[in-house]
Amino acid sequence: MKYERIEKAVFMERPNRFIAYAVINGKKETIHVKNTGRCAELLIPGAAIYVQKSGNPARKTKWDLIAVEKGERLINMDSQIPNQVVKEWIEKGNFAPDVTLIRPETVYGSSRFDLYVEAGERKIFIEVKGVTLEEGGVCRFPDAPSDRAVKHLEELIRARKEGYETYVFFVIQMKGVRYFTPNTDTHPAFAETLSRAAAAGVKILAYDCAVETDSIAIADPVEVVLGSPRLKEAAQPLVKWFRENKRDLPWRKRMNAYRVWISEIMLQQTRVEAVKPYYERFLKELPDVESLAEVSEERLLKLWEGLGYYSRARNLKKAAQQIMDEYGGRFPESYDAIHSLKGIGNYTAGAISSFVYNIPKPAVDGNVLRVVTRLLADPEDITKAAVKKKIEGLIEEIIPREAAGDFNQSLIELGAIVCLPNGEPKCGECPVRHLCLAFEQGTQREYPVRRKAAPRRIEERTVFVFCDSRAAAIQKRPDRGLLAGMYEFPSVKGHMSQDEAVEYGKSLGLVPVRIRSLGNAKHIFSHVEWHMTGYEILVDELEKSLPGNVIFAGRDELEEKYPMPSAFEPYLRAAGLEKRNAGGKTAPYPEQ
Ligand code: SF4
Repeated sequence: MKYERIEKAVFMERPNRFIAYAVINGKKETIHVKNTGRCAELLIPGAAIYVQKSGNPARKTKWDLIAVEKGERLINMDSQIPNQVVKEWIEKGNFAPDVTLIRPETVYGSSRFDLYVEAGERKIFIEVKGVTLEEGGVCRFPDAPSDRAVKHLEELIRARKEGYETYVFFVIQMKGVRYFTPNTDTHPAFAETLSRAAAAGVKILAYDCAVETDSIAIADPVEVVLGSPRLKEAAQPLVKWFRENKRDLPWRKRMNAYRVWISEIMLQQTRVEAVKPYYERFLKELPDVESLAEVSEERLLKLWEGLGYYSRARNLKKAAQQIMDEYGGRFPESYDAIHSLKGIGNYTAGAISSFVYNIPKPAVDGNVLRVVTRLLADPEDITKAAVKKKIEGLIEEIIPREAAGDFNQSLIELGAIVCLPNGEPKCGECPVRHLCLAFEQGTQREYPVRRKAAPRRIEERTVFVFCDSRAAAIQKRPDRGLLAGMYEFPSVKGHMSQDEAVEYGKSLGLVPVRIRSLGNAKHIFSHVEWHMTGYEILVDELEKSLPGNVIFAGRDELEEKYPMPSAFEPYLRAAGLEKRNAGGKTAPYPEQ
């Protein structure tokens, strides 16, 4: 769009929304301001402006305000031009190649949309919004509350439901901005309705413009941030911080999908330090998908012994088999294909896709939930799936395309080493402290908000280490349920006294030679706690006596062959059958 009869002028003042005074060619003139928005940050006394002389000599106000200089930037503020430049842009084939109709100002319901377009079978309504408000490269709309704009959005949602394609087209009337976001300061209802419109299928576009003193044309797409500009601002400082401060962890070396996958599954519910030795041992024995697909379940559980949540290990093997069968042994490289693997949910799929393939998908774990709810002072309950989904959406919108993996890892890393749980964040070391709402309010300890978990069921058990000089009795747990397929010492419900324990041994046909209390121990699973008391019962001939599925395992076999959950570790130790897991210490986290 080209303007004629443009003159440079100096802005003086704006006595009302419709007119202003300016010095043009050394003379004070009245100029017409088409843009009735506030524009307070633009129309500053002394600002260089560009005005157009009217082609109609009879007009009372001879000049129209067209553009203004703001620092280095030239901003077009002609509120009638956005519709025209979008129309020109569509006419040039930029919107669709097969446009057959462009009709301005088309009535729909009680609204009048800026453009109605037909392209092939498509029937399209486009509402155009000119944007002149810019601060630090961020453009926002509206610059003053606009109930009319909200009404237009509601009508677009309705049109969408009735089968039309619908667009809101934000024309950024300047060049070189960072992103566009709705203005929640001036009109939160507009921002809320815009998000609702996007969710309902109304497409949101933003384009900047090539602006000259006497012309304007649509130029390039501009990123739209509907969710959280605060998170958007945090992205670059977090990536920079991560690159400079990341810990040296085994799975960050020679990173590939298999290594990330194994580490991420191990790290669920288990601390980094506890995982390291397991990871090294696992990778040494099962270095690739193929070896994992072929390992026996018993060996797999042995490698996993002490990490807990044993279904994770079983799912690893199933997924490895899936990769062998469906992908010829090659780890899939798309988010959806990775997500379709057994045992892989949003978090792990996002982690593998972004860390390894730089796919901009979120990886939201407990660390990320903590960091984000603190940054945003978000009071919603993070145990709700909808809240996690919302946070995934906020992150997905702002993941830097060129640094998706480092960004996801930066949030996880910040949560792990700086934004610590239990009210102990090290805000002094935080690279996004200046953006953190909880820090600003001094409310870091109030986030994340978590609904109180239901209390765990307490189960009392008496554990028996029946042994003779060579072996101890163990049995395999059922194939389904808690600790499925693992091995355990025989046990019964309830706490028995020493005499009762002796009687129980006799009732099994054993001849107890000596009994020794092994003390009490507690093991916490996610929904149940075992409160155990244990006895070592030395018998004369173990193998001849015990019936059923009992196995007699020597110390070496306990150490090397049979996977036993760490719940029984205190009794292995107390009975002198101590075995060491890969880390040389009891895994400190609950198992299920
Ligand atoms: S300032 Fe403190 S509370 Fe906020 S994100 Fe950083 S560490 Fe967490």
